[in-house]
Amino acid sequence: MERIRGRAASGGIAFGRLVFFQREEETVKKHRVVNPQIELERYEYAKKMALEEIDGLYNREIEHIGKDHADIFLIHKMLVEDEDFVEMIQDIILNESCNADYAVHLAANQMASLLGRIEDDYMRARTLDIKDVSRRLIRHIQNKSEQSMKFNKRTILCSMDIEPSETTRLDKSCVKAICTCYGTVNSHSSILSRSMNIPSVVSLGKALTEEYNGCEAVVDGYSGILYVEPDEETIRRMIKKREEEGRKHELLKRLRGRRNVTLDGIEIGVYANISGLMDMKYVEENDAGGIGLLRSEFLYLQNDDYPDEELQFYTYRRVLEKINGKRVIVRTLDLGVDKNPDFYDVGEQQNPAMGMRSIRICFERPDVFKTQLRALYRASVYGNLAILFPMIVDPDEIRKIKTITKEVCNELDSEGIPYSHSVEHGIMIETPASVMLSDELAREVDFFNVGTNDLEQYTLAVDRHDPRLEKYCRPDHIAILRMIKIAADSAHRYGKWIGVCGEIGGELSLTEAFLAMGIDMLSVSPTNILPLRRKIRSLDLSDKTAALKRHGVLRDIDIDEVDKNSSENRLKKHS
Ligand code: PEP
Ligand code: MG
Repeated sequence: MERIRGRAASGGIAFGRLVFFQREEETVKKHRVVNPQIELERYEYAKKMALEEIDGLYNREIEHIGKDHADIFLIHKMLVEDEDFVEMIQDIILNESCNADYAVHLAANQMASLLGRIEDDYMRARTLDIKDVSRRLIRHIQNKSEQSMKFNKRTILCSMDIEPSETTRLDKSCVKAICTCYGTVNSHSSILSRSMNIPSVVSLGKALTEEYNGCEAVVDGYSGILYVEPDEETIRRMIKKREEEGRKHELLKRLRGRRNVTLDGIEIGVYANISGLMDMKYVEENDAGGIGLLRSEFLYLQNDDYPDEELQFYTYRRVLEKINGKRVIVRTLDLGVDKNPDFYDVGEQQNPAMGMRSIRICFERPDVFKTQLRALYRASVYGNLAILFPMIVDPDEIRKIKTITKEVCNELDSEGIPYSHSVEHGIMIETPASVMLSDELAREVDFFNVGTNDLEQYTLAVDRHDPRLEKYCRPDHIAILRMIKIAADSAHRYGKWIGVCGEIGGELSLTEAFLAMGIDMLSVSPTNILPLRRKIRSLDLSDKTAALKRHGVLRDIDIDEVDKNSSENRLKKHS
């Protein structure tokens, strides 16, 4: 037996067989061919396969998202068979004696740029469909279709690392656990594995080698340990641990329906962080008070192209409907860094965490931003919607956002499309600048939501994706706690509310500090909701100052005293 220790990223015990995943790079290079006829045949074969695949998707999605939305696949089918498109591809193959995948790639680009120039939103939207269709064709020509994320039953997926978009495509009934050589607990893939309830251990290092491919193994996602070829004793211990954890979970279920109230009567909202509709069953199971963060970018990462207004509208509407009037906070597109879909070319960046990401991309691509906002406002009539804007560093950005949201609402008005006028608008507090300017920012918005994952990264100068730096990323660092307190005071000064939706919201050793600061809502992975509720119900916050001092949020010396001294010193200097 080998015992490999990593970092516990998502709890749970899983038994299975190790399967190493190799990511294939999608490249389309042009090369001359001797026999173009063979390329024509490869293309015909890919066309047939793509059509079959699209048929399958259409039938599956009718079940999931309804006929109206599944019709997009009928459009894709028409595009694959479109005579002009087909002829263009055939001509390129024959005239340039080149490979079929390159011909598809070129024809799709030419067609997309033609359509992109037409002053018609519908036709422009079709350019995205063409890209989608061409990607599908190319995958089939290169014989790479969907190879990547399909696994046998009882798979323990092993990899150097895993991307968020790959994680979302995993089939939970087959993939029992995820183990990676690299990766951090706060990466989006780890966050996803927690929401999806898949046990995960990251940062296992070089000890996780491909030599173990096919070996039996057990993953302890609570302690962050992978046992390869476990012995009898370990198997028995792990089965027992799994049963004990199951029993603990059953006990926690008794807290469903109870209030999140401390012994001295302070109540706080406990909401769920989710990535899409697929997480709603865990939201319900764990009795969340609302959705505190819907990371909408996963809708983009799960698709081959920017999701259109209808698909987004449908998703937001279903989430709002499923939660029966509880608040749903949808964060607008937060792409970039580790969340880069193929269709968005961000270009070379020296420092992506500080580069083109998030709201900056939305400002660069107002068409994409507006599509999302339209879908959100349209869905707002189906429940209690709040919209959250990420990565804010300046009040000017909020003014810019307001101009755009106003344009979108005006458009909807002129089209006679209804939307709710009580949608709340808030911002993520996840940059040091937003903390420093929280007083100004609080006047401009309805609420704050603190994103500690990024706030830690930018404040403590720690790349959240570098496992070597995890020891520097301490969730209880007083710089972070004091920053949250500053933001909370600013919000409350203007009668606004504040939540914490970064991963430290679920850190039970800090629950007391958050309550003492007056945080109004904690939003955590669905599986963390019930343990957090139990913690809240065990606390007594009657002496908040003492609690804040215990956590280093307030210093022992009296703050008024410091202020008095500094003004006296000033007076002395000038006298
Ligand atoms: C955060 O930064 O804390 C946050 C909640 O957002 P994300 O993890 O998606 O960057
Ligand atoms: Mg963030």
